[in-house]
Amino acid sequence: MAKPKRRYVCAACGSVSFRWQGQCADCGEWNTLSEEAPETAFSAKHDLSSGGRPLSFEALDAKGDMPVRRSTGLPEFDRALGGGLVPGSAVLMGGDPGIGKSTLLLQAAARIAQGGGNVVYVSGEEAAGQVRLRAERLGLAGAPVLLASATSVRDILTTLGGMEAPALVVIDLDPDHALRHDRGRAGYSQPGPRLSL
Ligand SMILES: [Zn+2]
Repeated sequence: MAKPKRRYVCAACGSVSFRWQGQCADCGEWNTLSEEAPETAFSAKHDLSSGGRPLSFEALDAKGDMPVRRSTGLPEFDRALGGGLVPGSAVLMGGDPGIGKSTLLLQAAARIAQGGGNVVYVSGEEAAGQVRLRAERLGLAGAPVLLASATSVRDILTTLGGMEAPALVVIDLDPDHALRHDRGRAGYSQPGPRLSL
C-alpha cells in the first residue's frame, strides 16, 4: 500500500509543498508552513479534488424545463404519480397482496405499448402464461408488450442492456421472493421510467 503523502501549506501564500521547510519557497516568508490533514490511503485513492466538470449555477427562481410526463392512460394512476411517469425515473409500488397492483401495472404497460412505446414487462412472481391470461381477461392481449418471467437481476440487466432502451420497464415481483441480486454486477441505468412492484 502506498504511504500517505504529507502536505504542507503556506499560511501566507497558500503554496503547497510535500516537505516541511522553515521558509516558504514561493513567497519567502518564514515559519508559515503547516501540515495539512494528512492524506490517507483512502483519500489518495479517491481524490476528488481535480478532474471534475465545472457546474453552471442558476437562480432559484429560474424557469426550468419541467420533465415531460408520460401518461399511463389511466387518469387515476397518473394522478397518483403526480401527473404521469417521468422518463428516466423509477417508481416503487407497494401494497397488500391481492389489491390489484399487477393488474394496474399490466394495464399501464398495455396502454403505453398501444400508444407506440416499447414496453418490457418482467414478472418475477408469475409465469408468463399467467400474465397472458390476465391480459386476456382485461382485453389487453393484443397490446405489443414484451413479456418475460425472471427473478435474476443479472438476467434482466443482460436482456435490457442488449436491446434498445424501452419506454417503460415493469418489474412485477412478489416481495416474498425478492429478486436474486447476483454478485459482481451493479451500476446499470436505463433511460426509461420503471415501475417495480
Ligand atoms: Zn508562501
